[in-house]
Amino acid sequence: MSVAATERIGRALISWYRSSGRTLRIRERTDPYSVLVVEVMAQQTQISRVETLAERFFARFPTLADLARAETAEVLEAWRGLGYNRRALALHRAAATAHALGGLPKEVEALQELPGIGPYTARAVAAIAYGGRSIPVDVNIARVVGRILGAEGSLKPRALQEAADRFGEPLGDGEAAAWAQAAMDLAATHCTAAAPRCGDCPIAADCASAGRVAAPPPRRERGSATPFPATRRWLRGRIIDELRDAGAEGAVITGARGLHDAGAVDAALEGLVAEGLVEPAGDGRVRLPRRAAQGAAPSIL
Ligand code: SF4
Repeated sequence: MSVAATERIGRALISWYRSSGRTLRIRERTDPYSVLVVEVMAQQTQISRVETLAERFFARFPTLADLARAETAEVLEAWRGLGYNRRALALHRAAATAHALGGLPKEVEALQELPGIGPYTARAVAAIAYGGRSIPVDVNIARVVGRILGAEGSLKPRALQEAADRFGEPLGDGEAAAWAQAAMDLAATHCTAAAPRCGDCPIAADCASAGRVAAPPPRRERGSATPFPATRRWLRGRIIDELRDAGAEGAVITGARGLHDAGAVDAALEGLVAEGLVEPAGDGRVRLPRRAAQGAAPSIL
């Protein structure tokens, strides 16, 4: 793709974003700590839910220092409703490490050295909070970039990141964040996975895939997927919720839960303890960990 086309796409995308992008309260928070929290929350949780629950989290932990000093149990309690609790653990550990270093670093490489922080989150923090020019690439931005280049699904992660960064090169200070947020919104409103609306897409003139995206394969028959209450994720979430309600004393977790027999509950509890999401509390009780952040973070960011 020519430099001129790259620049045209950037201008069109950012202009469209400023006039038609989604209005999200969480985007008004551009300090490094808030960006980190919101980006971690937004992975695997609907943005409308993050809009509501992020404010509750910030009320409880207004600063990086507040989160860094909290007990793991407090962080997990504030994470209620967001799901995928391992992310809360990873965020807590990253915050504790960054606080010990004096704050969140500015550079992508330094951010990625924090426990659990991956390439996407590091670039999102660097771009939104510090004006970095590297474009964060998640599954939505990957789809948009891949389609612009006529190479959807065929670029390996490194090539995809390099392709995205070429869009960041001609941008002004702070505009990589706007580019990324514009691409996110375009992915949600026009460049959807199943049915892109190329007809009124603001960058259709320079997109190699305009009007050419093949229809996705037919979806699986409704009802053939495992119902959520039958999944291990449901069971883990249910146990964590019980322990949120139980407080510092904890609870005895035995016996069947919903569709899961006692053996499955024991196995899920064992996994939660091994991952550091739950700790023994004596007399057969377990609870959310009443300790500071510790250990290596799961690489889920
Ligand atoms: S023209 Fe179509 S395929 Fe290309 S970015 Fe826009 S919506 Fe996506």
